[in-house]
Amino acid sequence: MCVKNEPHILVVGIDGVRYDSLRSAATPALDRIADQGFLVPVRVHEKNATISGPVWATVATGVHADRHKVTGNSHHPVELDSFQDFTAAVRVARPELQTMIAVSWHPLAIRSECGPIFSSRGWVPTHDPEESNDADSWISADDAVAEYAAERIRHEDLAASFVYFGEADVEAHNHGTGDGYIAAIQRCDTRLTTLLDAIAARPNRAGEDWTVIVVTDHGHLDAGGHGGETQVERTAWIGAAGAGLPQHVTAVDHADIFAQVLATFGVAAADIDGVIFGARQEALPGATLPMTAAHR
Ligand SMILES: [Zn+2]
Repeated sequence: MCVKNEPHILVVGIDGVRYDSLRSAATPALDRIADQGFLVPVRVHEKNATISGPVWATVATGVHADRHKVTGNSHHPVELDSFQDFTAAVRVARPELQTMIAVSWHPLAIRSECGPIFSSRGWVPTHDPEESNDADSWISADDAVAEYAAERIRHEDLAASFVYFGEADVEAHNHGTGDGYIAAIQRCDTRLTTLLDAIAARPNRAGEDWTVIVVTDHGHLDAGGHGGETQVERTAWIGAAGAGLPQHVTAVDHADIFAQVLATFGVAAADIDGVIFGARQEALPGATLPMTAAHR
């Protein structure tokens, strides 16, 4: 008898990481995911502003801003409440499964500003890094998220999780997209290593299938800032690797993550804007940037 491995999926959000900056940073963990799967630029859908609230709401719910109605970071629209996040949808389909949300940007997981963006809500560091909004606050908040999430990933049986790091976006806002930004991106990759190590250390790892998806929400102007229509602001990226994922994926939308998570558990996601990875045939118009690091 062949026992099918149990599926597990981890989605890691890294806020505000420009595709060209990512490629010029040293990111061994993300490189490993790209080597085993794919890493592609993603054009933020025209229905979404190039702002965190709208795009993370699309990652969470699989629908764009014309439906979830999150158009900025400050207002929680009533329409959002009719959309479950992907961890909630997994639990509806498979009530016995455990899920986790751990984030440093509070509105993703608690009632604050536009939040909760994830209907399940989740864990946030006690100290809100947005209060002082400096590098040290965000570094310690992101470190706390990585430590908390790694501990739970290693010791619990979490079928679907979302983990988020925010320091790179804030660094770009505060100081632009120079060396400090690259260093922040690299620290986020180190946190990704911590999560991947936790998966590898699971006692029954050999009996489990794991899919890891890493995603950013938008880019940044050279001097820091986003929300506009330039190519660098509208270009995000998604990387993924795991059992059964197509390797040659050229076009992905943020809404596809919801569909892919549900498909991992054998559930078709109905009435969303996303499709499973590999279902889009061509790159979306304008989704690519030159592969060289041109903006350091
Ligand atoms: Zn931002």
